[in-house]
Amino acid sequence: MTESTYRIQGATGDWEVVIGLEVHAQVMSEAKLFSGAATAFGAEPNTQVSLVDAAMPGMLPVPNAECIRQAVRTGMAINAQINKWSRFDRKNYFYADLPQGYQISQLYYPLVGEGEIEISLDDKNPEAEVKTIGIERIHVEQDAGKLMHDQHPTRSYVDLNRSGVALMEIVSRPDMRSPAEAGAYLSKLRTILRYVGSCDGNMDQGSMRADVNVSVRKPGEELGTRTETKNVNSVRFVMQAIEHEANRQVDVLESGGKIVQETRLFDPDTGSTRSMRSKEDAHDYRYFPDPDLLPLELEDAFLEECRASLPELPDAKRHRYENDLGLSPYNAGVLTAEAETARWFEVLLSESAAKQGKPEADVAKAAANWMLSELFGALNKLGKGLDDSPVSPQAGAELLALVGDGTISGSIAKQVLEKMLETGDGAEAIVEREGLKQTSDTGAIEAAVAKVLADNADKVEQYKGGKEALFGFFVGQTMKAMQGKANPKVVNELLKKALG
Ligand code: ADP
Ligand code: MG
Repeated sequence: MTESTYRIQGATGDWEVVIGLEVHAQVMSEAKLFSGAATAFGAEPNTQVSLVDAAMPGMLPVPNAECIRQAVRTGMAINAQINKWSRFDRKNYFYADLPQGYQISQLYYPLVGEGEIEISLDDKNPEAEVKTIGIERIHVEQDAGKLMHDQHPTRSYVDLNRSGVALMEIVSRPDMRSPAEAGAYLSKLRTILRYVGSCDGNMDQGSMRADVNVSVRKPGEELGTRTETKNVNSVRFVMQAIEHEANRQVDVLESGGKIVQETRLFDPDTGSTRSMRSKEDAHDYRYFPDPDLLPLELEDAFLEECRASLPELPDAKRHRYENDLGLSPYNAGVLTAEAETARWFEVLLSESAAKQGKPEADVAKAAANWMLSELFGALNKLGKGLDDSPVSPQAGAELLALVGDGTISGSIAKQVLEKMLETGDGAEAIVEREGLKQTSDTGAIEAAVAKVLADNADKVEQYKGGKEALFGFFVGQTMKAMQGKANPKVVNELLKKALG
């Protein structure tokens, strides 16, 4: 990806867009960052609030090792420096969803330092248009509660269930240059978090949300003044917010105005951003080290355990699918884009290999093609996904084995899959019950060939006169006469013989 691709054309020339994202990712953990209260989404308001989360006087925070572990694992997954010594700071501000009057965060010594994430802008070939986005830091902090203003015209309510839940704030460098790059970055980050299992990545439930920093400049100039659009909660909205905000900034600058560093809000209904408040600086928050907490000191054994617990990550998996299994970059990309898809594929693959007594590399292409076109296509029609697929990977492997050993043809396999999805029965049982086995019985096929040629004497004439494309027609008619159950190879051979 070259940085010259995305430009906004203004009256005074082309403008470059500069983007940096701060992503808040809710840590997957049974308990909150400094209390034992539960974190499940969707509970009745104020049912998951300990005295610590409600900031009762005298309550003391105790760090939850699991939350720290998750943030460290996330840092390792983006090749980041892990700081064995880090510290918590108080960020002081008043708001009704923050009973403590401060958020415990990490300003000066974050848990995770510099790392990087590789993105690609080419869906069809993830090896192309690759760009590395720098990560500045990941720090750990508390989430605030939630205010609800629209329940009653004159009242606001506060739900403290989210108060004290652990967040990772993942801060990128201002390395992105287009809405598409920001979208690709956010998607890739979500994929990594889901693989690692440190955040569920569900943006619609607010467990991952992005603060979008945007500025514009003439190519080659210094960085411009940025605005920060807060809490944008989908990939599409992030891209829209950038598009809108960058164009707005160009308009302001070209009409002789200045960009004020400010916090803005995104309005999904109009796709536009509007000013919320002037941007506060760190000193506005009166940060200081939290006196209730000791610095975090991580031991080597803890770090080793974190590293050992990491799964194979998406890029490594994609490369393995290409290099060891011989899959196309596109198929490898699609199969590894979600941890769940890759898991499903790997069970399908190992079961297929076992059932057919072949190495995985020999059955991988057929398994990938079947899963991505046949299975996904059929599930799509049913409005289902892999998570509620009526066909398990084991059942899929049974079907593939029947195709692999020539028991059924590819086209019959489509019918069998439909029946499997309808009934939940196994492939072998369906093939047996419905008499779908492919026949290589030359006698029966020869009879069918003879009938097809006799019924289409005119076409046989044309074929012999040089219209060779008609061969496919004869194959199709013969297969039809055999109800799809003839071995295609035998059909071809016998037709060739009969047509001389
Ligand atoms: P704060 O925490 O006050 O928002 P930071 O310095 O931590 O400030 O920067 C936050 C984000 O803003 C980072 O993701 C960074 O990449 C991005 N950023 C910084 N300068 C610019 C700029 N000129 N244009 C666009 N993004 C920027
Ligand atoms: Mg910020």
